[in-house]
Amino acid sequence: METLRQLFALDDQALFERAREAGAKRPKAYWSPVVLNGACKTDPPCRHCKWESFKSGRPAFDGRRPIDQVLQCAETMRKAGATHLLVASGWMGHEIPDYFCDYIRAIKSRFDMEVYGLFGAVSEASLRRLRDAGMDGYQCGLESPDEEIYRWFRPGGDSLEDRMQTLKAAKRAGLKIWSGLLLGFGLSDEAVIRGLAFLKEIEADWVAIQPFVPFPHTQLQAEDPTNPYRWARIMAIARLWAGEQTSLVATENSGAYLNFMDWTGANAFFIFPQETGRS
Ligand code: SF4
Repeated sequence: METLRQLFALDDQALFERAREAGAKRPKAYWSPVVLNGACKTDPPCRHCKWESFKSGRPAFDGRRPIDQVLQCAETMRKAGATHLLVASGWMGHEIPDYFCDYIRAIKSRFDMEVYGLFGAVSEASLRRLRDAGMDGYQCGLESPDEEIYRWFRPGGDSLEDRMQTLKAAKRAGLKIWSGLLLGFGLSDEAVIRGLAFLKEIEADWVAIQPFVPFPHTQLQAEDPTNPYRWARIMAIARLWAGEQTSLVATENSGAYLNFMDWTGANAFFIFPQETGRS
């Protein structure tokens, strides 16, 4: 087994060819978000938060959705080609509201699709309640594996350690897990190595390397986006480092990132139908 440092040392041709071959062996998957509640208790809000950006132009994005709207959204996603649903809310604290379980039960009873939760760092008891309601897996990104960078763009809310503990708890609860990191704000290769090592240790089923993309009306709107070439290299390294059973998710499928997509070895992609907006 090659070390992460050996993978970082590969030249472009070897790295990208091998990543593409490895990615082609995994089944394709298409994820879409279904928002349960656009509110978030993180205070102050994360400096890059795209949901804050959405709320500035569309106040209705904030707050709890009625179940009919949630089911309609799931149906729109299914029709657009989604094979998996990411059921999301802003962070509600470590204990999830009861209605999240009711909504997951309703989605699972109507749609024959895998449903993952995305509610930030939550307690093991919350994860078990969600699992018992039918949730198949849990998505909890590391955000930044560098603590200093993490708190620079996420000054409030849950911590990196909270997120790592949530992923371990989800694993113990028998849920599939999806995690990854945000490649931005000067994150070093050494920090990426620490993050990828952790994802391997917890045997993540899905891994995503997310490029930073600035959104208007956020504190980080003037920051440069992640360089797409570096993103493609780290995606390819993650592809080769993760086990053969792990899927690699591309969270950005457009613009400069799309230009590099074939090199990454990604087998899972996002579909964002226009009417629901991105979440
Ligand atoms: S936790 Fe998510 S929704 Fe809440 S402020 Fe941070 S990025 Fe925005």
